Amino acid sequence: MKLINTFAAELPWACEPVAPQPLANARLLHLNRPLLAELGLAGVTDADWLACCGEANPLPGMEPVAQVYAGHQFGGYSPRLGDGRALLLGQQRTPGGGLWDLHLKGAGKTPFSRFGDGRAVLRSSIREYLASEALHALDIPTTRALVLVGSDEPVYRETVETGATVLRTAPSHIRFGQFEYFAWSGQGARIPALIDYLLRHHFPELESGAELFAEVVRRTARLIAKWQAVGFTHGVMNTDNMSILGLTLDYGPYGFIDGYEPDFVCNHTDSGGRYALSQQPAVGYWNLQKLAQALADHVDGEALAAALGQYEHHLMLHYSERMRGKLGLTQWEEDDPSLFRQMFQQLAADRVDYHLFLRRLALLEPSGPWPAPLLALLPDAGSWQGWLTSYRERLAREGEDSGSRRARMNQLNPKYVLRNALAQQVIDAAERGDMAPFERLYAALQHPYAEQSEFEDLATPHPSWYQGEALSCSS
Ligand code: AMP
Ligand code: MG
Ligand code: MG
Repeated sequence: MKLINTFAAELPWACEPVAPQPLANARLLHLNRPLLAELGLAGVTDADWLACCGEANPLPGMEPVAQVYAGHQFGGYSPRLGDGRALLLGQQRTPGGGLWDLHLKGAGKTPFSRFGDGRAVLRSSIREYLASEALHALDIPTTRALVLVGSDEPVYRETVETGATVLRTAPSHIRFGQFEYFAWSGQGARIPALIDYLLRHHFPELESGAELFAEVVRRTARLIAKWQAVGFTHGVMNTDNMSILGLTLDYGPYGFIDGYEPDFVCNHTDSGGRYALSQQPAVGYWNLQKLAQALADHVDGEALAAALGQYEHHLMLHYSERMRGKLGLTQWEEDDPSLFRQMFQQLAADRVDYHLFLRRLALLEPSGPWPAPLLALLPDAGSWQGWLTSYRERLAREGEDSGSRRARMNQLNPKYVLRNALAQQVIDAAERGDMAPFERLYAALQHPYAEQSEFEDLATPHPSWYQGEALSCSS
């Protein structure tokens, strides 16, 4: 096995060679062995992964570089960002012929670190690791996580924490921000080479920058539709965190909703709610507009406008398909939009647990009492009688038996969700040196749609009023 780095070799002006920095007493905390095997990396020893991800000893063939990019951060343009705490170590040619980046986050300072220390703390590394794999299991495009390393290296945040690294992987980590950087730093002549690199290595089925942009629009729309349907907020949808491949990229203060809250903001520093759950579709469009502007000297303007014009259509198509599936609907009826609207209004009014509400909705039978586990989620079950009756009548017109509908709904409504409270429990234990809770949550999130009796405690809702099912079932 020998790694390569086509990005560094073909686009040397888009990156800087940087050596990773070792961490004090680095130790392996987790390896994603199935994914390592898929990528053809099963032969690398644990000692070599530790050396590579914690001890600044890259694997043979690796040529670590930091990638330069810019980006619109909270609406304002930052002309030079770049990998300030991550390195593209190299790329792996997989058994299937794909090309995958090995990208190490938390590897130390780079020329793009500006004021930062180039480090990542254990807390944020665990959050990225869990979220990458949780979103993947939910069928949401994302960078993946391969290796988690912890250490005794002190890293100063609001308090002293410890340094960690995540080795993440994706076919490419190229962002909208690379195009912005070259367009607005007087290096627009580089953009055709960047487009060409993407077409050759990652979009061989496409032929031009116009086709590439149209594909980025489609993928971004599909990604955000999936985030919305599952109640995921990215938190920092700056253009430097937007993947050209349409992947969820750069996990920071992300959050899944618990109780349904359309304007949920996971990032406490986002006081204006720019990246609230409800804003994500519009922000995706705004970000694509910034990408189109960066491409404007090299791609036909009408083609860019036509592609942008398709964004809302793609997003609504994917979103409505996903939501209809989550409610178990296969046919279309004129009054469906109002059924959805009423459900969301009522969910928001009562802050009902979004995930478990949909999961338990599948328990509904054609007649008889409302399912007790569903009622247990509703602080005011009386106010739901009207909607539940309409929904049951709607299901009756589908004509499908409730068993097969339940099976379909259970494939789209996760029982196990990476709630912030769960992630925090895992982090608290890991900071004390106990990785067992991490292992349990990681295992549960691998199969979010399955019934896993051993992980029942990880599938409870978190609204403050919730007292547990036994108590609320009487309502
Ligand atoms: P983010 O929005 O977290 O993806 O980061 C925005 C920019 O800040 C990127 O260019 C990062 O590389 C940089 N950055 C974030 N954290 C650090 C850090 N601890 N040290 C250096 N640069 C950082
Ligand atoms: Mg260079
Ligand atoms: Mg970033």
